[in-house]
Amino acid sequence: MTPVRRRVVVIGGGQSGLAIGYFLRRAGLDFEILDASGRPGGAWPAAWDSLRLFSPAQWSSLPGWPMPPVPGAYPGRDDVVAYLTAYERRYALPVRRPVEVVAVEARAEGLLVRGTDAAWLAQAVVSATGSWRRPVIPAYPGQESFRGRQLHSAGYRAPEAFAGQRVLVVGGGNSGAQILAELSQVAMTTWVTETEPRLLPDEVDGRVLFARATARLRAQQEGRAPEAPASGLGEVVAVPPVRAARDRGALRSRRPFLRFEPDGVVWPDGSRSAVDAVIWCTGFRPALDHLAPLGVLDAAGRVAVREGRAVGEPRLWLLGYGDWTGLASATLAGITRTAREVAKDIARSLGEDPRDGP
Ligand code: FAD
Repeated sequence: MTPVRRRVVVIGGGQSGLAIGYFLRRAGLDFEILDASGRPGGAWPAAWDSLRLFSPAQWSSLPGWPMPPVPGAYPGRDDVVAYLTAYERRYALPVRRPVEVVAVEARAEGLLVRGTDAAWLAQAVVSATGSWRRPVIPAYPGQESFRGRQLHSAGYRAPEAFAGQRVLVVGGGNSGAQILAELSQVAMTTWVTETEPRLLPDEVDGRVLFARATARLRAQQEGRAPEAPASGLGEVVAVPPVRAARDRGALRSRRPFLRFEPDGVVWPDGSRSAVDAVIWCTGFRPALDHLAPLGVLDAAGRVAVREGRAVGEPRLWLLGYGDWTGLASATLAGITRTAREVAKDIARSLGEDPRDGP
C-alpha cells in the first residue's frame, strides 16, 4: 500500500497526543494523530467509575483552554473525557481513529508507520501511546491454581460486583488506595502493600506535588540543592474518599503473602486466608511494542531518550510516559511543558523556526 506522506505523525490520541497536536498546529506543521481507540479521551473512558483527579480542574488543563470547573472541585473520569472530547473538537485536531499502529520502521526517506489497513511515511514521529494497555501483574507461586477472581485495576469499574466478598487489594499507590477506599464499604478487604503506604497530608494535592516537582527541576537545572521535599506521585494523595476510609480505620495494610492456594493465600507467618478475589493495583508499563522494529527498546521495554528524543532514532520522540519522558509528563498538568519543548525540537529538526509557547 502507498503510504500517506506527513511531516509529523503522532501515535496516540490521549491527553499527550492532543497536547503535542496543539503545539504542532501552532508551529504550522503538517501532522496527523493516529489513535487506536474508537472514541476520544485516551485511557480515561476505561477508568473506574468513581476515579477522581488529584487536582482541581484549573490545574488539570491542557494548553490553550482550561478545563471547565466542576462541582466538588476534583474532576471525575467523565469530566475528563468530556473535556478531552471538547478539546479535540475545539482545536479541530486531525485525529484519525480507530487506527492501531502495529509497527514503526526506519526508511531512508522517513519513518514508516504501519497501521492495520494503512501506512504513513513521516519525517518525525511522536509516540504518545500511554501505558493503560500494558497492565503489570506480578507473579506469585501457585497463582494458576487460585480459583478466585483476579482483576487488574485497569479492568475494575465499580465495587458492587464484590459485595460481601473477601477481597485482597494489592498495591500501595493511588489506585490501590482509591479502590480500597470504596471496596472496603461493601466487601471484607485486605490491603496488601510492599511497605507501609505513605499518605500525604490532607492539604497536599496534585497542585502541591506539581509545584514541588517544578522546584526540584529548577534547582537541578541551576545546579542547586533542591529545597522542596522529594515527594512524588508514588505517594498516596488523600482525596476525600481516601480520607474518609482512613478515618473509618479501613486503610490498614499488611505485607505481601507468600503464595496462592486454590481458595486463598498463605502469609509469611504460615497463616492462611480464604480469598474470593484479588485486585491488582500494581501499575503499568509503557505500551511501546509498535517501536520494536526500530531496535530502540531496551531490556525493560523502554527507549533511551534525551529531552524526549530517542537516542537511537533521531526522527522519533516519546511523550507522556512519565518522568523519564519529561517531568510530570503523564499528567494533565505536566504535559504542556514537555509537549511545547518536543514540538519546538521537532520544528527545529525539520528546519522550521520553532515558535514560542502559548
Ligand atoms: P493514554 O491516555 O493512555 O492515551 C494513549 C492513547 O493511545 C489511547 O487512546 C490508546 O488507545 C492509544 N494507543 C495506544 N497504543 C496505540 C497504538 N499502537 N496505535 C495507536 N494508538 C494507540 N493524570 C492526571 O493528569 N491527573 C490526575 O489527577 C490523575 N489521576 C490518576 C489517578 C489514577 C488512580 C490513575 C490510575 C491515573 C491517574 N492519572 C492522572 C494518569 C492518567 O490516567 C494517565 O497518565 C494519562 O491517561 C496518560 O495520557 P496519555 O495520553 O499519555 O496516554
